[in-house]
Amino acid sequence: MGRKSREKRERNHTTIAQHERKGKNLHPPISKIENLTKTSWKDNRLPEFLWIGLIIHLNERLVGLDYIRQISKYFYDRNEELRPEELSFTSIAAMPDEQIESFYNFLFKELFLAEELKPLLIFNSLPKKDLLEKHISLNDEKIEIELAKLYSSVANMIDHQSQLATDCRWARIYYLMIKGKLHMGSEAENIFYYPQQGDMRRVRPTIRACENAMSLMGKQNVWVEKFWTEALHNSPCWDLNVKEEEESDLTPLMMPNLNEVENTIIEHFYESRSTSAIDAKHEAAFAFTLYCLDILKELTDSGIQNGITGRLGLRTIAECYITLAYLVKKNDEQLWLSYRSYGSGQAKLAFLKIDELEKQPQFVSLDTLEALANEDQWQEFSNINLGHWENSNLRAMSETARVKDVYNSYYDWTSGFAHGQWSSLRSMEFTICGNPLHRLHRIPNENKKLPTTVGDAADLCNKIIEILFELYPNEKVPLLNMT
Ligand SMILES: [Zn+2]
Repeated sequence: MGRKSREKRERNHTTIAQHERKGKNLHPPISKIENLTKTSWKDNRLPEFLWIGLIIHLNERLVGLDYIRQISKYFYDRNEELRPEELSFTSIAAMPDEQIESFYNFLFKELFLAEELKPLLIFNSLPKKDLLEKHISLNDEKIEIELAKLYSSVANMIDHQSQLATDCRWARIYYLMIKGKLHMGSEAENIFYYPQQGDMRRVRPTIRACENAMSLMGKQNVWVEKFWTEALHNSPCWDLNVKEEEESDLTPLMMPNLNEVENTIIEHFYESRSTSAIDAKHEAAFAFTLYCLDILKELTDSGIQNGITGRLGLRTIAECYITLAYLVKKNDEQLWLSYRSYGSGQAKLAFLKIDELEKQPQFVSLDTLEALANEDQWQEFSNINLGHWENSNLRAMSETARVKDVYNSYYDWTSGFAHGQWSSLRSMEFTICGNPLHRLHRIPNENKKLPTTVGDAADLCNKIIEILFELYPNEKVPLLNMT
């Protein structure tokens, strides 16, 4: 079919089989750890260590890290009661004003870090901002320059595993280590000389794991929420129009033999029928195939294949394929009849319900419904089955028919679109704002285009055609070509 096959992705997650089933829920292994507190680097700690991120990011990296060592040493040289508990902004601001003043003198008169730290003044919620303003000030005309420093630094530290985030998290544990509050055992030397000693593939994850574990004991601070609120209001959203996935349109021209395939199937319908009486198997098998080809044709219309309706169409084709494969696998004439009479019963039920309405819907004709309900037999003889026609469900049927892979590939996720589930709504209606100060929040998507459904729909249609021609063989099986 000329379609790209994706390389298998590296697995970096717990599989379904590794989850534990309890009733109707699947629980991940991590949920077994007691008293686990979910903490977020981005939401809770990034604002606290932003000042460190600015110092490292706005300098050559090793120079930036050396400033952090000098700052740590500055506090190390003081008595314990004159040191901040941590290098978080909250801890610094919790020191007596006098100590903060001396520290700011050191920052700005000895280390000359004014340019690096000016962007902090954009935040009015910053604890004890007035003390900082004695040393540095914002020039309103140059606010864009300070914002640019913020954008770049926050963008580089928002991912908790990024180099800058890891450097900030190192700063946190390095300070605690040298003031004797944290014992790193055999890792101590690697932390001390970071990032110039030890295997970084091991040292970096160790730093992050250790910093994460410490976050459970850290105090919750009140200003970080204000920080994010200010960040949201101080700068605009950036709609990057990012395409979340590779997309491509497939036009009807790319399936040059679609009409020819359809015509061949219709011809074969006439050739293979044996009676003018009801033939539940013959009629259903051809109807499934032609119905799915019709959906495929609708999908090739512009807009539909990349949109919501495209996903509904693909889901229906998958359901038709699974049902047809199930009926063929069971190979029971009675079952074909039962599939058919269930459908007639549904037409009767719909007719009776709509007939009682004062205001009737426009999408269906009552006469058509009545004719369908009475086509195989007088509707007064027809039962109405209020459950599933096979007292089963599609997942179980796909297992019986040995087509569970189709169910897993095409039915689960498309069903989310049919049922209006959150993630489906999210994938269609929102995109990620590109402003790092907005911590990757969602904004309405103006470029709504999901990957095309036509290729998958055509693959499924070919599977349906193959089943049809196994039931009613012919010399040649007319399969769809994709150019
Ligand atoms: Zn935004």
